Amino acid sequence: MINNILKKQCPRCRQGKLFVSAPYNLKSFAKMHERCPCCDLKYEQEPGFFYGALYVSYALQVAIFATISVALAVLVPDAPLSWYLIGVTGAAFMLFPLVIRISRSIWIHIFVKYDEAIARKVTEGKNE
Ligand SMILES: [Zn+2]
Repeated sequence: MINNILKKQCPRCRQGKLFVSAPYNLKSFAKMHERCPCCDLKYEQEPGFFYGALYVSYALQVAIFATISVALAVLVPDAPLSWYLIGVTGAAFMLFPLVIRISRSIWIHIFVKYDEAIARKVTEGKNE
């Protein structure tokens, strides 16, 4: 399941992609397929469904900030404050698209369970 979250695939069949384009396509990094291309699961279960993913992305951001701060404190014990600011803001910008996508992926995996029967049907359909 963790693997599937990171691959950003449909939680139900674990085969269809969640997102339309690559993460660093800045125009459309957050653009998702409306339905799973494989099992037809509707991704946005209700209007505003993915707003909840903002909580997940907030938690991820905090974890990233903490990791960078600790790493910097360990690697460069007498680093000036400006290094922290540059490191943390830089990372926030660089990782923003990834964080948004991973949080949406986590969010939908919380609400939609894997369905083995459907996954099998999708796999069989591909082989026909
Ligand atoms: Zn699917």
